[in-house]
Amino acid sequence: MITKENFNFIFDESACGGCGGACCTGKSGFIWINEAEITALASLLNISKDELKERYLYRLDGRYSIAEKPYNDGAACVFFDEINKNCSIYAARPQQCKSFPFWDRYKGLDADLNELCAECKGVKKL
Ligand code: SF4
Ligand code: SF4
Repeated sequence: MITKENFNFIFDESACGGCGGACCTGKSGFIWINEAEITALASLLNISKDELKERYLYRLDGRYSIAEKPYNDGAACVFFDEINKNCSIYAARPQQCKSFPFWDRYKGLDADLNELCAECKGVKKL
């Protein structure tokens, strides 16, 4: 169980095993990745940063986001492994992914956690 100060929930990492990757799939969204993370991911994939950007990222408002692909009735991160239902670039996933579900928008004792609880079964309200 993981707890963090100022978050009104605990997170059970063991839920990820049988989850199917709910936080990598579903509604379309942004998966922000910074330059240092782009460098690390390009290295993991053994391709150049330019190739990574061209094949797997898109630019918006001066930032890069990882592209998505159609998945079930919604979308999935392009790096979501549909066979194993997990992240195919786990070692180089961006901080946004590493920090989930402890995102600023869910911080604070009054945060509305209903959407988060519906998405992530590892989240338990306190
Ligand atoms: S949605 Fe929650 S339980 Fe499922 S993989 Fe993501 S963090 Fe783990
Ligand atoms: S990079 Fe990995 S953890 Fe992040 S959304 Fe894509 S598949 Fe999920």
